[in-house]
Amino acid sequence: MNNRQLFLQHLAQTSSAPIGIEMVRAEGVYLFDAGGNRYTDLISGFSVCNIGHGHPAVIKAVQEQAAQYMHLIVYGEFIQSPQTGYAKLLTDHLPATLNCVYFTNSGAEATEGAMKLAKRVTGRTKIIAFRNAYHGSTQGALSLMGDEYWRNAFRPLLPGIEHHSYNDEEALKAIDKNTACVIMETVQAESGISAPSLPWIQRLRSKCDELDVLLVLDEIQAGFGRTGSLWAFEQFGIVPDILLLGKALGGGMPLGAFIADRKKMHMLSHDPVLGHITTFGGHPVSCAAGKAAMEVLLNGRYTDTVKEKEQLLVDRLVHPAIVSRNHFGLWMSLQFATAEINQQIVHRCVKNGVITDWFIFAPDRLRIAPPLTISPTELEQACRIILQSIDEITA
Ligand code: PLP
Repeated sequence: MNNRQLFLQHLAQTSSAPIGIEMVRAEGVYLFDAGGNRYTDLISGFSVCNIGHGHPAVIKAVQEQAAQYMHLIVYGEFIQSPQTGYAKLLTDHLPATLNCVYFTNSGAEATEGAMKLAKRVTGRTKIIAFRNAYHGSTQGALSLMGDEYWRNAFRPLLPGIEHHSYNDEEALKAIDKNTACVIMETVQAESGISAPSLPWIQRLRSKCDELDVLLVLDEIQAGFGRTGSLWAFEQFGIVPDILLLGKALGGGMPLGAFIADRKKMHMLSHDPVLGHITTFGGHPVSCAAGKAAMEVLLNGRYTDTVKEKEQLLVDRLVHPAIVSRNHFGLWMSLQFATAEINQQIVHRCVKNGVITDWFIFAPDRLRIAPPLTISPTELEQACRIILQSIDEITA
């Protein structure tokens, strides 16, 4: 059997049409397949590789940590310098109330931890989530997912969750004394990139403050410079009570985190003890990789170049077949007339050497989220390939 047959027969398939290319190497913004073809990664492995692939500083950190020690014990027992060092770096770059990090395996586990922490801190059970939200695929996180099509087959889910729409007064009215938390993406990803309005999110923050409701902001996709500031919430003049991170957090290794004030976080250590348990959460190699990647991001000041590159996308990606565009930082969606046309354009882009994809709740939109390290020349070239692919499909 060749690798393609092994992939189809022995790996669980979740996509009806996987891209199915065998990649053998990745470097910078490029992926290379087994046939020697080069692709520009225009989605950064779904907002993971914000500093591109195979950065020497990350590889060095992984190799050195792997040689020193890998897994030693379950989370939270031994003192492990990759965890403490990374928690310090993160909290040094966060507001003072976000000073305590719980490292998890994934974004979904961070979501689970945040829901549990909100219930534990407030003693309440109601949770407000949003339509078109995606916070992960485990049962709890799935219960927050903002569309019945994706939830229905897996019922029963968690009770007490209400879904509302961004910028809707009803969401604010729904926040009450029974609410443990409001959980939302600062900028919603899978709807095709939707930002809340500034006055609405600020009023939402105030309503949470009035009623002692925790505001959980999911920046698993929006974090680490993608939106043009290190954290997206900085652009809205608010601070969450719990911040969710993942994806780029691990610098290409698996890692998630929920971050809160230590007084709240320490409630996980009593009544009951071990309020959240994880074997591999905060894996030392993942933490070493994530810290190295964050240092590269900060020292290279890549976030400072995001707005300029966003403008390049806005200027170049103009075509009569594009129905609308949403963008927020180096993060864009292009809408086409139908999901079918978008699928064809996505496939043609891949064939022409640009990796892109669609969005869970917006199959008619093409995803653009390149590494923040992409050069203007590389971005121009990728735009040319997208426009050429649109021409080929719509001509
Ligand atoms: N939250 C958001 C906004 C995401 O985009 C994702 C993953 O795509 C998750 C949570 C879940 O993260 P993970 O796939 O690491 O469980």
